[in-house]
Amino acid sequence: MTSLSLYLHIPFCRHRCAYCDFNTYTSLADLQTAYAASLAAEVQQVAGTERRRAHTLFFGGGTPSLMTPTQLETILTAVHTHFAVTEDAEVTLEANPGTVDLAYLAALRELGINRLSFGVQSAIPGELALLEREHDFAAAVTAVHLARQAGISNINLDLIYGVPGQTLASWGESVCAALALQPTHISLYCLTIEPGTPMKRWLDNGRIPAPDPDLAADQYGLACEQMAAHGYAHYEISNWALPGYACAHNLTYWRNGEYLGLGAGAHGHAAGMRYEVVKQPRVYIRRLQQAEAPGYPLSTAVAAHHALTRQEQMTDTVITQLRLLEEGLDLTTFRQKFGQSLLDVYGRTVAQLLEWGLLALSGDRLRLTPQGWFLSNQVFYRFL
Ligand code: SF4
Repeated sequence: MTSLSLYLHIPFCRHRCAYCDFNTYTSLADLQTAYAASLAAEVQQVAGTERRRAHTLFFGGGTPSLMTPTQLETILTAVHTHFAVTEDAEVTLEANPGTVDLAYLAALRELGINRLSFGVQSAIPGELALLEREHDFAAAVTAVHLARQAGISNINLDLIYGVPGQTLASWGESVCAALALQPTHISLYCLTIEPGTPMKRWLDNGRIPAPDPDLAADQYGLACEQMAAHGYAHYEISNWALPGYACAHNLTYWRNGEYLGLGAGAHGHAAGMRYEVVKQPRVYIRRLQQAEAPGYPLSTAVAAHHALTRQEQMTDTVITQLRLLEEGLDLTTFRQKFGQSLLDVYGRTVAQLLEWGLLALSGDRLRLTPQGWFLSNQVFYRFL
């Protein structure tokens, strides 16, 4: 039986950061308990009568660490009742430094959460202030130490580069500070200034400078060197891990595997379709009160779904798997899955990208080259 990954979205934050366009809300804390019950109901609806196997659970947000242990327990009890969660399942919760203390982290450990992902973003006070993050770097250091004390040692730290006013040196300092905490995993994201965010307004009215793509590329390059020097494997374009600590949940996405998206605004990919859940938490809660579920993998809260064509499945496979820098795209598996070789389908595109030095073919594996890491969006665009 194939094994699934479950993504559980928690759409609550205390404050909206200046760059954030995620599906999250700052004034709905009073809905948390009802929301947890609705997520539990969605888990039950989606599962139906079959107890499918799940090997990763991921609480993402928003700020999942705003949920009380009791609220998380409601959700996890439903998951364990309706899915066969493997003994060694990776169970991640995203947390903001400054929202956790030792008692809370110990309660998470008791609930079976064995991986934490802290949104650190920067070690530089001015950058954290510009991003409108609520914590300082000292809070991140404390959070990591407390997590270990509570028995959770599998820890990811997120950092952001391409921040207005950030220099190559200040970025290097943040990476260095994160590495000094010896996390098992580090994710580095390039800031995109999204429409509708305060940061976009600041950009438009000249309060902050426009992003400099050349500087962002230099920052990425510097981080690649720093990570390699500390023994972290660069296994995905934006992700590094110590040996044995690649994120199993995200590997499901990058191998174009099946995952269920549960919770307001979540996206899923299962049973040959992609779907998304309604965004508004109040609407989500109301929709979960309807009795007649459409059947696996959809719940009554699904806003839209789309059966994937064979062409879309092939494109998704290429684009997701090329993100895996070591693993790359296995041409034999592609042929077995689609009954056609990759070169029959995308021969001219692949030949061109090989010629430009953005892809490399080694045996039966197609991978991005180091030059391709920097231009990955351009590479993927050509397969669309
Ligand atoms: S903590 Fe994360 S989800 Fe919440 S507002 Fe900030 S960036 Fe958005």
